[in-house]
Amino acid sequence: MALLVLAGALHAQPPQYDLLLKGGHVIDPKNGIDRIMDVGISGGKIAKVAQSIDSRDAKQTISMSGLYVTPGLIDIHAHVYLWKEPGGEAAQADAHSFRSGVTTMVDAGSSGWRTFPDFRARIIDRSKTRILAFLNIVGAGMGTGKEDDPAEMDARAAAKTAGENPGVIVGFKSAHYAGPGWESVDGAVKAGELTGLPVMVDFGRVNAARNLNALLLDKLRPGDIYTHCFSGHREELLDSGRLNPAMEAGRKRGIIFDIGHGAGSFYWYVAVPAYAEHFYPDSISTDLHINSMNAGMKDMNNIMSKLLNLGSSLQDVIRMSTWNPAKEIKRPLLGNLDAGAEADIAVLRVDRGNFGFVDSAGARKSGNQSIVCEMTLRAGKVVWDLNGRASQDWKTFPYQKQSWKK
Ligand SMILES: [Zn+2]
Repeated sequence: MALLVLAGALHAQPPQYDLLLKGGHVIDPKNGIDRIMDVGISGGKIAKVAQSIDSRDAKQTISMSGLYVTPGLIDIHAHVYLWKEPGGEAAQADAHSFRSGVTTMVDAGSSGWRTFPDFRARIIDRSKTRILAFLNIVGAGMGTGKEDDPAEMDARAAAKTAGENPGVIVGFKSAHYAGPGWESVDGAVKAGELTGLPVMVDFGRVNAARNLNALLLDKLRPGDIYTHCFSGHREELLDSGRLNPAMEAGRKRGIIFDIGHGAGSFYWYVAVPAYAEHFYPDSISTDLHINSMNAGMKDMNNIMSKLLNLGSSLQDVIRMSTWNPAKEIKRPLLGNLDAGAEADIAVLRVDRGNFGFVDSAGARKSGNQSIVCEMTLRAGKVVWDLNGRASQDWKTFPYQKQSWKK
């Protein structure tokens, strides 16, 4: 009796956690966690990850039984900004992010140093999704007809804009350059050197001199990111069916390999041989835009499922979608469940059955696992809840009945 009274007295204090995610399989690659754990959230931050947290210490407890609880996913290649409307290909960040567990999107070069202030004011600062950016080395940005104009590639102007937007601009993008020279890559790398930030390259067109070997072994720096790594458009896979040795040599130098699936950059005939040679991507990203989202790409979860069915472990797939991209963009406070980190969380389910996955050519590969996002939290708030797990049953729900009768 005395003990019960004591327990009651202890729990008479206000609950310490706003929300408790109980009994989920937590996968937090940064912290080496891969087991059933409870996650306590308070004031929008991760308060505690532990084997058992008492439900009486939380205002609300949600059962995570049978589900995976991971850091909010980070998609480091998306397109969520249009300079001119209509006519662009960008998607709306909040319309795509949370429903697939993505809490951070990095826009990959849709804006350049001329247009970034407009992007920031109209989109970044008004979105619920955390939006960061690789700034296009072309001042006008993507889809403006200026991507082949070296006069637009001003490394100092790009570096200045990055300096004015610390923590939001996380690097520079070189994209779609037809060549024949290196102006685009060199400009982006120079901006990267001026700021200490990484570069992401969509390598555009290649020729005899402007080739993968020169890019990965000479031009890029360790930590720079080669996106569209399984596209096959730039001799990533040789005619022999073997992977270009420049890929492995680049990796040894510290070059990062990112998926950037998009509408035309992920093919089974490249991905399957790459996996056979044990060459796996460092990060998973969508290259989300209006032409990729309804085709083979679909969303982050669909690409994660593709790699899971290719043979990556679930732990590796989560690492490629959380902690690896956080490190790539030098944002170590993201992509993990450290106590004190903003509570960005994805709750995932892995379904077993017969599924089909389509590449950028429209070719299908079957698989028996499919990742589905059940719930997403952004800064501790439930922003996506597929099955209403955070909601109360309608029979006991305290409806505030409203009459709209005049
Ligand atoms: Zn792109």
